[in-house]
Amino acid sequence: MKKRKAVFLDRDGTIVVHVPYLSSPNQLKLLPNASHGIRLFKEHGYLIIVITNQSGIARGFFDEKRLTLIHRKLTGMLENEGVVIDDLYYCPHHTEGIIEHYKVDCDCRKPKPGMILDAARKYHIDLTQSLMIGDSETDMLAGKNAGCRCVLIKNDCSSASTDMVIRIDYVVKDLLEAARIFTQ
Ligand SMILES: [Mg+2]
Ligand SMILES: [Zn+2]
Repeated sequence: MKKRKAVFLDRDGTIVVHVPYLSSPNQLKLLPNASHGIRLFKEHGYLIIVITNQSGIARGFFDEKRLTLIHRKLTGMLENEGVVIDDLYYCPHHTEGIIEHYKVDCDCRKPKPGMILDAARKYHIDLTQSLMIGDSETDMLAGKNAGCRCVLIKNDCSSASTDMVIRIDYVVKDLLEAARIFTQ
């Protein structure tokens, strides 16, 4: 069976405007060109998989039920723009959380590659042909740890500096610029 290629996307600061511990569907706001970029990737055969750290759950700021509502709204917003994402993985854990159940040193919290590796197994993804796109060093490390190429988004709401400890393959201003590089 031929392996697929995928784009792994961070959520906050990459698809939607970064709101610290975003806890309500009403706070979701798509970033400029995000849906257009995702659509372009899809048209060129990439699976679209969202990979997001949501330690607000471990910290007790919101629960998984609330996060499900947020993600339902997000997928609806993207569908209104003609984009269907293939899957979404989140890590609810944090070692300094206050909710005992989630207070663990897990394998899924970025920069660990757990969520990417899980998705790769489930969807038969060739990681060397795949991309991790995000706005933080954590995203870039997760991508590298999984064996993907890494694309850093630098926009008004990203705090990332480009002088990271790891080599970033590409720096772009939004998802459309990223998509244009890989779909021409
Ligand atoms: Mg982010
Ligand atoms: Zn986790």
